[in-house]
Amino acid sequence: MMKTQADLIARARGALAALGVSPDRFTPPGAGTLDARSPLTGAALFGVRGHPREQVEAEIAQAQEAFRQWRMTPAPVRGRLVKRLGELIAEHKQHLADLITIEVGKITSEALGEVQEMSDVCDLAVGLSRQLFGRTMPSERVGHRLQEVWHPLGVVGVISAFNFPVAVWSWNTAIALVCGDAVVWKPSELTPLCALGCTALLERAVVETGAPAGVHRVLLGGPEVGEQLVDSPMVPLISATGSTRMGRRVGPRVAARLGRSLLELGGNNAVVLTPSADLGQAIDAIVFAAAGTAGQRCTSLRRLIVHESIVEEVVARVSAAFDRLPAGDPFDRATLLGPLIHERAHTAMQAALSAARAQGGQVLCGGDRIETGMPGVWVRPALVRVPEQTGIVLEETFAPILYVLSYRDFEQALALHNGVTQGLSAGIFTRDLAEAERFLGPDGADTGIANVNVATSGAEIGGAFGGEKDTGGGREAGSDAWRAYLRRSTATINHSGAVQLAQGVHFSG
Ligand code: NAD
Repeated sequence: MMKTQADLIARARGALAALGVSPDRFTPPGAGTLDARSPLTGAALFGVRGHPREQVEAEIAQAQEAFRQWRMTPAPVRGRLVKRLGELIAEHKQHLADLITIEVGKITSEALGEVQEMSDVCDLAVGLSRQLFGRTMPSERVGHRLQEVWHPLGVVGVISAFNFPVAVWSWNTAIALVCGDAVVWKPSELTPLCALGCTALLERAVVETGAPAGVHRVLLGGPEVGEQLVDSPMVPLISATGSTRMGRRVGPRVAARLGRSLLELGGNNAVVLTPSADLGQAIDAIVFAAAGTAGQRCTSLRRLIVHESIVEEVVARVSAAFDRLPAGDPFDRATLLGPLIHERAHTAMQAALSAARAQGGQVLCGGDRIETGMPGVWVRPALVRVPEQTGIVLEETFAPILYVLSYRDFEQALALHNGVTQGLSAGIFTRDLAEAERFLGPDGADTGIANVNVATSGAEIGGAFGGEKDTGGGREAGSDAWRAYLRRSTATINHSGAVQLAQGVHFSG
């Protein structure tokens, strides 16, 4: 049964109460400075108090104060905070998933998957809390030791996008906290309830484990609040996730004050589908990558580069799969297609389809609005055959549009693949080992993530996540991404009892 506005308010209230969010954090719609809305109805559910300018400074200062204490807490002890956070997240998995579905429209399975990712990164960070290794290098001088030591950095400013309203926060926060940093989070203005839910759980873990209260602060508001965080000299690292447009503003501002930034920006991801591919496997993966989260993932599949010998069969099978996708209430377990985030996303999708037609593209299926009985915007994913990779195909439209290009030889497929400015995630479907290795090699896919027989979305937490070129170059989550949250100190210890200068320099009378 479809949800009414009253159902959504009741469900959100229940989840917020279970997560421990104090009722004075939200108000009736219109009474706060920010409204929490649901894309299911398009209407405001609650008002939320945003942070005025003076309060932003005060919150950052509190975090800086807490950092001074937190950096002196041994890393394995810091790990206990993140361990408790992970336990609370697991306990409240459904409540957090409910808020994601309400504010972003993700289907339940994907919302639960996003919360699972939070638990996974907490596990990873707890392990890391005993493994923030520095290397020891051989010194060229007798009786000297040369060593690198990793120290906490300071206050980390986290700016996150609407489409992963809780996971991106946890990737940054779990790791920054074990590294001894304090975190100030500016979530998307579209997802304040998710932010309040996460913050309540972390505040509880802070109290229970005796961590300093200011070690995590949240700032609610729009880009202007983000800009204040970006400009603060108290914040040595800004980790910003969002559009390339946002990154182009944030990157130079942080650089101007010689701060560090970790940018996770837009993608324009492609799959190369070769003649040797297992088509059944490939098409299932392609449909999820293109239509999952209604095409609103940074890793969503936007370009399908298909060998000319199989392109007709592939477009027929993908169109049929798009047409069959059950759309509707994302709380209903049978639904695979939830709504777009807002009307503006629908307008942008229609503008992109018009531009594609104007440049010779043919919309093979989808693009039309689906009536679900709810006032939000549901659209059928669009499959668009384009004659060449120009104009709108080069842009990321944050909606379910999959452009199809055909290729004749593998070099041409690779050139098409890399012929965009973004560089987040890539996939090839092939049973040819040489093609697979080439795709993963130094002159293969130029993206931060490259997969064989796996499509572009659905990364695991153990690998470093991020992309190249206009995607910003940042890396978060697994592997050695933790190093971005620390400062490196190179230490030389002289236990020889004599002064010895490096490079054989003599400087005594
Ligand atoms: P957005 O750029 O509109 O907003 C993202 C965040 O940046 C929000 O919190 C917003 O308030 C803030 N912001 C915007 N302008 C700012 C400024 N000038 N200074 C400081 N903060 C500012 O993005 P969105 O619509 O919320 O999310 C969709 C975009 O995010 C897509 O482009 C998607 O590809 C990208 N994304 C990338 C990744 C990744 O890991 N690479 C992950 C998720 C989303």
